[in-house]
Amino acid sequence: MSKQRDFVLRTIEERGVRFVRLWFTDVAGALKSVALAPAEVEGAFSEGIGFDGSAIEGMTRAYESDLLAVPDPSTFQILPWRGEVEPTARMFCDIRTPNGEPSVADPRNVLKRTLAQAAELGFSFYTHPEIEFYLLKSKIVGPEGPIPVDRAGYFDNVPGGTAHDFRRQSVNMLEDLGISVEFSHHEAGPGQNEIDLRYADALTTADNIMTFRSVIKEVAIAQGVHATFMPKPLAAHPGSGMHTHLSLFEGDENAFYDPSARYQLSVVGRRFVAGILRHAPEITAVTNQYVNSYKRLWGGDEAPSFVSWGHNNRSALVRVPMYKPGKGGAARVEYRGMDSAVNPYLGFSVLLAAGLKGIQEEYDLPPEAENNVWALSDAERRAMGFDALPQSLEHALSVMERSELVAETLGEQVFAYLIRDSRREIDAYRSQVTPFELESMLDTI
Ligand code: GLN
Ligand code: MG
Ligand code: MG
Ligand code: MG
Repeated sequence: MSKQRDFVLRTIEERGVRFVRLWFTDVAGALKSVALAPAEVEGAFSEGIGFDGSAIEGMTRAYESDLLAVPDPSTFQILPWRGEVEPTARMFCDIRTPNGEPSVADPRNVLKRTLAQAAELGFSFYTHPEIEFYLLKSKIVGPEGPIPVDRAGYFDNVPGGTAHDFRRQSVNMLEDLGISVEFSHHEAGPGQNEIDLRYADALTTADNIMTFRSVIKEVAIAQGVHATFMPKPLAAHPGSGMHTHLSLFEGDENAFYDPSARYQLSVVGRRFVAGILRHAPEITAVTNQYVNSYKRLWGGDEAPSFVSWGHNNRSALVRVPMYKPGKGGAARVEYRGMDSAVNPYLGFSVLLAAGLKGIQEEYDLPPEAENNVWALSDAERRAMGFDALPQSLEHALSVMERSELVAETLGEQVFAYLIRDSRREIDAYRSQVTPFELESMLDTI
């Protein structure tokens, strides 16, 4: 019995834990949960808990549907919103087939596999997400669209406002769950907020993001508001991005840091960025997986539409931030494309794979964008080599379908599922007659 398992079993006993929820994430990025009686936990560690994979999005084909959820004891936490008396705890799970193999359709396993590839090259991968979301009065949509809880903007301090209490309660809960928060603030849109998690290894961060979404939804319910991670809920206001700071470490050394290099970005860092830029269009259907994602990407308001990098340039897809001299450990690059609805396991996997490709193939970093990329003309952008990101899910999918990198990284089954699922969404969307069409045509044509 490992030490961690022992600790979990002892804590369950000492705290009088009544239920232990086993959590995992489906291919589409939804959190799944099954509650265990405490007496079953020991068996779950050794044998896993069986479930019907064919009922979970993207998990299996119906004729091989049995899967096992095996809890990871290092992720054990008491859920603060369930109260102190007879508390409920949770653990994230790895999904296995009945003969004990990691399931090819488990997003957590896709990320573990990609992290193992990085480890073979001597790297560990760290991420720090800035998660944006909207707080709405309810999920009822008014005549003007969703109704935000306030009219405040970037960094606004709203005395007595919902957002303030909301962030305080969320941050407290996150910290109770062992998730450190670095910043939280009101974002630019009305009712829009951002909470930034402290950097951690990418697997922990992905687990933390899944937990984060649950916390935000729970706090919203408790405060009588509605929280949404939808990429672009309000047409006239900024979408919700999940900018993520990325770094590679070799042992204790930050592999992106070179004090003598331009912007202190090492050759490894430059190649990593070059890999992300070259493969950005083909990974976009993963990092921005909904029809609605493209309304954010092409809706202005600091969402990146073009493939470029820059130093502190907020119109670039990849930003090389400034950090204090001598703080080499903080060297990192920020990917600004991803949105808050991403499946974090898959999003991190394709970003890492693209970056590693750049390192292995020694890609050259193209020249940086020194000015506002949106303000350039198409011809200027072409001349500078700033390609556009895909403009729709359909477009993103057609680029991804031809991508060896994405197929290899996700594995055949997840790759095929994402293509099928995105097609389904595109077809359903295409068959809509929208308010825009009715308003612009019904009377006049
Ligand atoms: N909301 C913007 C986006 O969608 C980001 C704004 C910001 O954090 N500066 O990417
Ligand atoms: Mg931020
Ligand atoms: Mg922000
Ligand atoms: Mg940012």
